[in-house]
Amino acid sequence: MIRVEKLSKIYRTSLGSVPALQEIDLQIGAGEIFGIAGYSGAGKSTFLRCLNRLEEADSGRIVIDGEDIRLLNRHDLAQARRRIGMIFQHFNLLDSRNVADNIAFPLELAGQNYAQRRARVEELASLVGLSDKLLSRPSQLSGGQKQRVGIARALALGPRVLLCDEATSALDPPTALQILELLQDLNQRLGLTIVLVTHQLEIIRGFCSQMALLDQGRIVERGPTARIFRSPESLIGKKLLDVGQKLFRPAEVMA
Ligand code: ADP
Ligand code: MG
Repeated sequence: MIRVEKLSKIYRTSLGSVPALQEIDLQIGAGEIFGIAGYSGAGKSTFLRCLNRLEEADSGRIVIDGEDIRLLNRHDLAQARRRIGMIFQHFNLLDSRNVADNIAFPLELAGQNYAQRRARVEELASLVGLSDKLLSRPSQLSGGQKQRVGIARALALGPRVLLCDEATSALDPPTALQILELLQDLNQRLGLTIVLVTHQLEIIRGFCSQMALLDQGRIVERGPTARIFRSPESLIGKKLLDVGQKLFRPAEVMA
């Protein structure tokens, strides 16, 4: 479904060069929920943003659903992006628009008429459990509801892939869990391939069958999540798991 070969990206700033991605090789199967973890600054967001070319990589290859993404011209990239949805930590909603019009935004850009948009918005709102909020403004919603709008908007044009960049990091744990369960449900019902980027390892443990660990722009470990949690091979893997266990150890063990 997604094949990445030797993907590299350097940010050049007045303060110097930051090698954000260094020769990343990765394969993500169709219908998978694939987790990408790593410390802050590891290159996780850069990697996701290179997949749909919100960020341009310097070298390497990205093939999604048979399409060589880095070679697409403007028109073909716009078409390809319809098949690659994305959601964000801070939702990126337009507060000047109500929920229905936020969800309808990609449909408008795709040139759908009012009747088509309206029918699709109702379908999407029902899919994410927001049918009673269509006329609300984003500012009137809870964090979890905002992310549901983000998900509905990302799914508007029927993508095959959903990229999630710390999509639950701004939510309280019960709400984060609800959103993750919604994503899991969409993965199963729609066969949606999900790439889940997070610094929270316990999320990957709970929801991803396969995972990769990024550190300083390199993949230091990849494979089945269960195997990595059982016996991490990389130093970073061991460290991350150790910190995770200390942070999330039940209270009675800490006492
Ligand atoms: P993560 O999402 O894992 O926290 P990022 O992909 O955001 O990591 O960042 C990877 C590295 O690239 C970091 O060192 C970060 O400071 C740097 N970086 C990210 N975006 C930019 C940018 N627009 N300009 C310069 N450096 C950047
Ligand atoms: Mg990030």
